[in-house]
Amino acid sequence: MRASIGAFGVLAVLGAPIAAEETPDVEAFVEGNVLSIFYHELGHALIHIEEVPIFAQEEDAADVFAVILAEAAWAQETALDLAYDFALLFEDDAIVRAENGEGPSWWSTHGPDEQRFYNTVCLFYGADPDKRIDYAVDMGLPEERADFCPEEFDQARAAWGGVLDVAMERGPGDTLRLQPDPPGRIGAVLTEEVTALNEMLQLAAPLDIRVENCGEANAFYDPGERTVIFCTEYETSLIESGRRIYE
Ligand SMILES: [Zn+2]
Repeated sequence: MRASIGAFGVLAVLGAPIAAEETPDVEAFVEGNVLSIFYHELGHALIHIEEVPIFAQEEDAADVFAVILAEAAWAQETALDLAYDFALLFEDDAIVRAENGEGPSWWSTHGPDEQRFYNTVCLFYGADPDKRIDYAVDMGLPEERADFCPEEFDQARAAWGGVLDVAMERGPGDTLRLQPDPPGRIGAVLTEEVTALNEMLQLAAPLDIRVENCGEANAFYDPGERTVIFCTEYETSLIESGRRIYE
């Protein structure tokens, strides 16, 4: 269920079946991670459109934004479901990489999957440490890190919360422009999500969002076109990850 933010009253039930072939856990995982990936790309878009200064790796900042937006847009129970799904995708990516005999790409703009996993777990735990001890334990977050997580979350919220506040103070609008009838399950999730976000905020300039074939399971923000591209190939990839995790 969505959090109540101002007049923002769209109710979305995450995990509502779109296709019948997957278990509810896998469906929720796929839909949760469409949000995770979209929120991450939206983070890149906001950094560009809102001219957000970034003092470290932009990829890390976009990961942090995904958590902050999940916490801002969704009620506690759904945010906790998302906390599992966002993090478990990173863990699955790490496992697959290891099984393929590939080590972490230390040169990459993205941090290693294992680090992204723990960073994500830490922030979601830090958002509500009293109620999310079970989550931290389930995810194997060591106490040495957990001790710092409430502070890490507060710092992240102070940084990104200000950016979100500015966008929300502009009120509802239509600056997120999704193509008409976007394809597949990704298109269905984004249709609902973009509607909800447009009722919650406006960006300083319009952002186009497209779901299309790219030849790989990927998503990216193109600053030249001011467009988020979400590749349809990601759907199959997320279903495979969900099945590895839940079946
Ligand atoms: Zn990124």
